Amino acid sequence: MNADWEAVIGLEIHVQLATQSKIFSAAANQFGAPPNSLACPVDLGLPGVLPVLNEAAVRMAVKFGLAIGAEVCERSGFDRKNYFYPDLPKGYQISQLAAPIVGPGRLEVPLDDGAAIDVRIVRAHLEEDAGKSIHDAYAGQTGVDLNRAGTPLLEVVSAPDLHTPEQASACFRQLHSLVRYLGICDGDLSQGSMRCDANVSVRPQGQEALGERTEIKNINSFRFVEKAIRFEIDRQTDRLEAGLPVLRETRLYDAAKDETRPMRGKEFSDDYRYFPDPDLLPVVIDEAFIEAVRTELPELPGARRRRFREEFGLSDYDASWLTREPEVADYFEAATGADGSDAKRIANWVMGELTAKLHRGGLSIDASPVTAGALGRLTARINDQTLSSKTAKIVFDTLWAGAADVDEIIKAQGLRQMQDSAELTALIKDIVAGHPQQAEQFRAGRDKLLGFFVGRVMKATGGKANPRRVNELLKEALGKQE
Ligand code: ADP
Ligand code: MG
Repeated sequence: MNADWEAVIGLEIHVQLATQSKIFSAAANQFGAPPNSLACPVDLGLPGVLPVLNEAAVRMAVKFGLAIGAEVCERSGFDRKNYFYPDLPKGYQISQLAAPIVGPGRLEVPLDDGAAIDVRIVRAHLEEDAGKSIHDAYAGQTGVDLNRAGTPLLEVVSAPDLHTPEQASACFRQLHSLVRYLGICDGDLSQGSMRCDANVSVRPQGQEALGERTEIKNINSFRFVEKAIRFEIDRQTDRLEAGLPVLRETRLYDAAKDETRPMRGKEFSDDYRYFPDPDLLPVVIDEAFIEAVRTELPELPGARRRRFREEFGLSDYDASWLTREPEVADYFEAATGADGSDAKRIANWVMGELTAKLHRGGLSIDASPVTAGALGRLTARINDQTLSSKTAKIVFDTLWAGAADVDEIIKAQGLRQMQDSAELTALIKDIVAGHPQQAEQFRAGRDKLLGFFVGRVMKATGGKANPRRVNELLKEALGKQE
């Protein structure tokens, strides 16, 4: 993309709500069961059945609305969106068009450079998910699995306030973080728990009017959102520069080829013949319900990020990183509770070594063999100079392997750093005496030789001497005060 053009991006994100049962039936809302084992007559759209709205889904939608400072609609309703597809046996999807449950709100999106942007959320509405077509189970045939049919979805629609692929994926990430904090979605992208449609257009820099847009459907990773949008911006820019129009259409992102391809022409809401669902009553929400939900709101990611920055003196980047997942933030915070611990060091261990090891082991932080308390104590022992960075790593690896007590590990493996012991002073004196030539040269100005002595001391102590102290003691012993 060159500087003559500006990209405009709006996201529509489908969030599967983590209710026990489906949005209009009592069938279990669960991923991974044998095909069609969780589809009851309502989900199958058999004649004569009636949908009954799941209050838990309403509660979760309201919770989301309050978390983005939105107005919760006192009276919302459901509409039928009519279309034909094998994974939608009723021939219509129950959704909310005219009166969504959540009105306009805002999402604060932190960016990697520490800045944050405010993204307007236009609306969020409840709807049911469709089933799934299975193309790879039988050669030449397509199967239909209706377990997903009727899964409650909250569709969150952003205003076209995003201007780069990075901002768009940061927005998706922040929504992910928010719904995990709220406990309304498991956030498992690989299972389709959150899916992102990206609307992309390009306009000449400085122009007010929006350009024609395309919509990239069903992107299920933060990285792919970025890549799909980047490809699409370039494609549209190339067309406009060549004097060709951008066509309003729905496109699909092919990750293997890293490109978007047309899927179908854009349909307009007229095509769906929306009308109010006659089987469902309006959803009326009173003040008491809203206030009850408000009391369930946890500390939200933005507030926690700011608190981490202030309370623990973390950088914007670290505070954002550590507060993205509630479990990581909890772990970090628990670690800072250990006596004498060091928040900045804990942050570095969590973001570096611990995350790398968890990743390699395919473990979530809840299952970390190194407990938060142990990591906190480890940093306390680095701070009081019992451990060097090298021996700290040994302790960490021992904790990872299953040991629980930092001080016991230090004792059992003799890892305590030598500080001001008479032993260390005597050792240094011996080493200086044993290398008169080098000592002479050092005194004559060959400063580099200090490293030679430090190396000898470290070797003699098996790496357990405190390097800073060794430096000081050596300089004294060599008779060159600073
Ligand atoms: P539709 O009715 O076609 O779904 P909406 O007005 O509901 O259209 O917008 C859908 C999404 O597309 C929203 O996220 C919105 O911000 C985004 N959007 C609308 N116009 C543009 C545009 N010209 N460029 C980029 N995104 C856009
Ligand atoms: Mg739309």
